[in-house]
Amino acid sequence: MDLSDGVVEEYIPDVDESGQVSYPNAESTVGEEANAVLEGLADRDLLYQEFEEKVYICPSCDTEGMQYTTVCPFCESPYAVEAELLECRECKTKRPRDEFYERDQLECPSCNASLTEDNVYESEGYACHDCEECATSPEHRLWCRDCDRITLLENGTERVLCRYGLNQTGYEWLVSQLEARETIQEALASRGFETRTDERVEAGGETTTIHVYGEDPLLDRSVVVDVHDLTTLEDIERLQTARGTGSAILVTTSGSVDEPIANFARDHGIKILSTGQDGSLRSEFDVSEGSSKPTLIQRFTSAVSQ
Ligand SMILES: [Zn+2]
Ligand SMILES: [Zn+2]
Ligand SMILES: [Zn+2]
Repeated sequence: MDLSDGVVEEYIPDVDESGQVSYPNAESTVGEEANAVLEGLADRDLLYQEFEEKVYICPSCDTEGMQYTTVCPFCESPYAVEAELLECRECKTKRPRDEFYERDQLECPSCNASLTEDNVYESEGYACHDCEECATSPEHRLWCRDCDRITLLENGTERVLCRYGLNQTGYEWLVSQLEARETIQEALASRGFETRTDERVEAGGETTTIHVYGEDPLLDRSVVVDVHDLTTLEDIERLQTARGTGSAILVTTSGSVDEPIANFARDHGIKILSTGQDGSLRSEFDVSEGSSKPTLIQRFTSAVSQ
């Protein structure tokens, strides 16, 4: 993942031409829930969070980044523009200034009364180029650049966008993940495996990335390894699929896994290792009771260490 190689230090929301908002770097690993996941990680004090901007979501097509626009109060067209308006004293017609000129003289376009600058009222207003009506002030709306829907401000859903970056705790946490990967990689190398990190593996019709891949061409054996702080059932199932006919190892950096994970590993012959305080690999680990239903934070945890 980008954060892990130190290239991308911050996730900055990106609004593209169609108004779609995303966290491009985060989404490559955590999917559409990136927003929520990043917020969750900030709650866990691994990331700092700074307000960036506020966007509105279209009630029709869910596109983010609706644009503010003024519209004509008569026909709702956004093609109502600021104009200098004149009002005829005789018939009260209010029209844009240029409509009052007749052979350089001021003349009412409606009742044809001859006017001078002294007997017309002048005001700032809006002239609509669609229905030709004039108004003192326009209406305020949100406009969707994707589906063209124009809606009341209160119908657009607000979303706050923030900038995220690793703080000290997050950095240390990330380092612990990366060190664990290095340790298992070295352990495999010393046992005759050729290793690669962040290996993309075809599994179950999908391409998945595993943290460490080891191959022993001499003995024709392979091993897939994932390193997690909090392991989800989804993580271990993915590992099981990715192993093919080879072995699979799960390294837990927290020293424990939930019971369903431990059961799954036992049933499928997946080896679980933990990292000790000194970073060394051990075969002891704790099993904690409770559900392994992945929380967003857990999902991020598995994603960030990829
Ligand atoms: Zn008039
Ligand atoms: Zn209009
Ligand atoms: Zn829309």
